[in-house]
Amino acid sequence: MDRFTDRIAVVTGAAQGIGAATALRLAIEGAAVAVLDRNTPEDTLEQIDRAGGTARGYVCDVTDRDSVQSVFDRIATDLGDPHILVNNAGITRDDLFFRLAEDDWNAVLSVNLTGVYHCTQVAQKYMVAQRYGKIVSLSSRSALGNRGQANYAAAKAGIQGLTATLALELGPYNINVNAVAPGYIATAMTAATADRVGMTPEDHQQSVAERTPLGRVGQPEEVAAVIAFLASDEASYVSGQTLYVNGGAR
Ligand code: NDP
Repeated sequence: MDRFTDRIAVVTGAAQGIGAATALRLAIEGAAVAVLDRNTPEDTLEQIDRAGGTARGYVCDVTDRDSVQSVFDRIATDLGDPHILVNNAGITRDDLFFRLAEDDWNAVLSVNLTGVYHCTQVAQKYMVAQRYGKIVSLSSRSALGNRGQANYAAAKAGIQGLTATLALELGPYNINVNAVAPGYIATAMTAATADRVGMTPEDHQQSVAERTPLGRVGQPEEVAAVIAFLASDEASYVSGQTLYVNGGAR
């Protein structure tokens, strides 16, 4: 498939995990990809290079409006005006609500929700001017409620409301805005969760797999494939939606 020929895509938090898999997928299908993360995303750039794709790396903290603006300015000069934005950067700071520290509340809201506000507000200017854009943001199954994740659940539910609203406001400019809500995907984020509850990643994944209709946890590439669909013209009449990618769990 070559769905992204001549497209410029921006993926945040793309040094590893779902973001890295998404950047690779978009590049393999022809996009020139801006790979953003807090640190230089060397591994992702190497993978894309090995696959014959085009990418450039940018150090960008999505919580910092000025950092976001200056990186988008550079992307426009280096690669061209962006057509696709994948808001993937995310963190967890889990704790039960009664003792959830304000710093952990603020950190999670700042990266997972305010970061989406920053990147989307900057990106939409290019998209409105082009009368073309695809915005896909990472929500989570945790948006429906997850013990120990009040901050994360609030941020990820916020993304769903933001997505529905942006679809209304940006639809007239031919911009599709959607979210994906993964269940348990095997990445560094879920490995850290396993560590916090005193389990190995393998045992933790096994326990989740036993409660999942498809009988296993998900892989980053399986989320990347759905993001790529929503970022493509195959999904041209899909907007304002949150698509759960969770192995059938309710
Ligand atoms: P990872 O922790 O593996 O990767 C997230 C990346 O985001 C890291 O490279 C991280 O950098 C980067 N990042 C963190 N903060 C910032 C910031 N302020 N600015 C720029 N980049 C930042 O996570 P996953 O791949 O597992 O998750 C990707 C997205 O999918 C997240 O939004 C997550 O909430 C969501 N998701 C994940 C699920 C899962 O099961 N894995 C399930 C549901 C949703 P650093 O390492 O330096 O912190």
